[in-house]
Amino acid sequence: MSDAPDAKLKIVHYGHPALRQQAARIPRATEDLKRLVQRMVDLMRDSRGLGLAANQVGLPLRVAVVEWEGEPRVLVNPEIVSAKGEEVAEEGCLSVPRLYGNVTRPAEVVVRARDLSGRKLKLRAEGMLARALCHEVDHLNGRLFVDRVDESTLHWFIRTTQEGEVVTQPTTLEDALKVFTAASRREDE
Ligand SMILES: [Zn+2]
Repeated sequence: MSDAPDAKLKIVHYGHPALRQQAARIPRATEDLKRLVQRMVDLMRDSRGLGLAANQVGLPLRVAVVEWEGEPRVLVNPEIVSAKGEEVAEEGCLSVPRLYGNVTRPAEVVVRARDLSGRKLKLRAEGMLARALCHEVDHLNGRLFVDRVDESTLHWFIRTTQEGEVVTQPTTLEDALKVFTAASRREDE
């Protein structure tokens, strides 16, 4: 990050090692970090994501951005300090494109983090927002939704028909992950 703070950010996909790394704690917010976060917000919005963790742009640092009531929220060193209940809903991930499946998450969480000025934040969230926070904190710990997915619900998004119907294709986890590892091997060549 420090050697090329303005290089173009790109979302890395399943198979990239950064997605499996435990991200490093950020000792203090630097100008580089602020620039990185701004570019992560732009990238998240361009990609129509609800959240983005630094691991997903190939940088294992403990920072994530999440859409929060129409505003991007920045979470530096976020930690889930309490979780309540259980909820099942469909999830996907910008780093595992076109693949979706049901994941059980807490219905309610409390997250502690810092913002870009170093102020302490305590966020209480439920539903989709709680899910997004858990998903992003997972990223910072090198975990992906496919590690937690209910495999019987796993499917590819194929297309949306003119009538607005969503066409999907069921898949096994093994077959789906093979598609990504084959693609990431091609990128290495
Ligand atoms: Zn994700």
